[in-house]
Amino acid sequence: AKVWVLKKHFQGFPKPSDFDLKKIELPSLQDGELLLESVFLSVDPYMRPYSQRDMKEGDVMIGTQVARIVESKNPAFAAGAFVVANSGWRSHFISDGKGLHLLPSSWPESLPKSLALGTVGMPGLTAYFGLFEVCKMKPGETVLVNAAAGAVGSVVGQLAKIGGCKVVGCAGSDDKVAYLKKIGFDEAFNYKTVTSLDEALSKASPDGYDCFFDNVGGEFSSIAINHMKKHGRIAVCGAISQYNDSVPQKGPYVQIPMIFKELRMEGFIVTSWNNRREEGQKALLKWVLEGKVKFHEQVTEGFENMPAAFIGMLRGENLGKAIVKV
Ligand code: NDP
Repeated sequence: AKVWVLKKHFQGFPKPSDFDLKKIELPSLQDGELLLESVFLSVDPYMRPYSQRDMKEGDVMIGTQVARIVESKNPAFAAGAFVVANSGWRSHFISDGKGLHLLPSSWPESLPKSLALGTVGMPGLTAYFGLFEVCKMKPGETVLVNAAAGAVGSVVGQLAKIGGCKVVGCAGSDDKVAYLKKIGFDEAFNYKTVTSLDEALSKASPDGYDCFFDNVGGEFSSIAINHMKKHGRIAVCGAISQYNDSVPQKGPYVQIPMIFKELRMEGFIVTSWNNRREEGQKALLKWVLEGKVKFHEQVTEGFENMPAAFIGMLRGENLGKAIVKV
């Protein structure tokens, strides 16, 4: 089996030399175990802060994959089936079956299995629970989302439309902005080229925003918070603008708008909704099949290109979900 390990803790932006590709021998299968082969692997922003907090140099990079069961000595899993596993950056691995999620046998042939890592997987569920449960979005409201053309953001915008809201998205390239308009965002702009973020936010919604789904944090958030309507709700989902900082950014100082606009701001982690995972996945799958939620994947070919796909995603090179196809 091939595995990618964290060779050196990242200093600032991750570099290819921070990773090491190793070969390991897998032991023979014991009763209750399965041999799995990764077919699609996910590269996600959380891997950057997680590696800093919870990994040692030499550890296998964490992550999720869609894997095919090559051989099974576990009666609950048949060879040939596909599962979503949380086994890190590994080409092959042995599992005892715990924590594996079988892809439903009804998974439509027309849909790529990689969607179980994106729109119908963890990022889609993040959008679903963040918007419906944390923001408590209601029909007729205005929703703002940043990193809007990414895995989570693109679903947030489309769910807001399904929920009868106006949605404003921002992203880091004109192509991404064009994509957002194509998939139904009411307003979209390129945050890298606007002369003033403040003015762009006012122009996109002169009355302000009821819900802000924040994927970015930092300076963007400190500006956006002043555009919230009274009793607005902010779902603090991610802070990708800060993950690569060696020195913590100053601020934002949120107290004044929080008080005078009587805002509610709540951080959340998608896995806290694991007990409702099935409900969320069912709804997302239905909307995808009905064409109400469209998806795009940025597919990098080759297990050996995992670090490049990860670094590219952090740099904003992905439209939709960043996936590696083995
Ligand atoms: P994306 O597919 O959105 O990829 C990351 C995107 O972030 C890039 O494409 C880039 O798009 C944008 N970006 C990178 N650097 C910056 C920056 N400095 N300022 C603004 N935008 C930047 O990733 P995901 O959809 O998987 O994740 C989005 C966010 O959601 C992340 O912060 C992630 O950590 C968080 N998250 C949180 C979860 C939770 O449970 N709380 C679960 C899943 C994700 P652009 O070109 O637009 O700059």
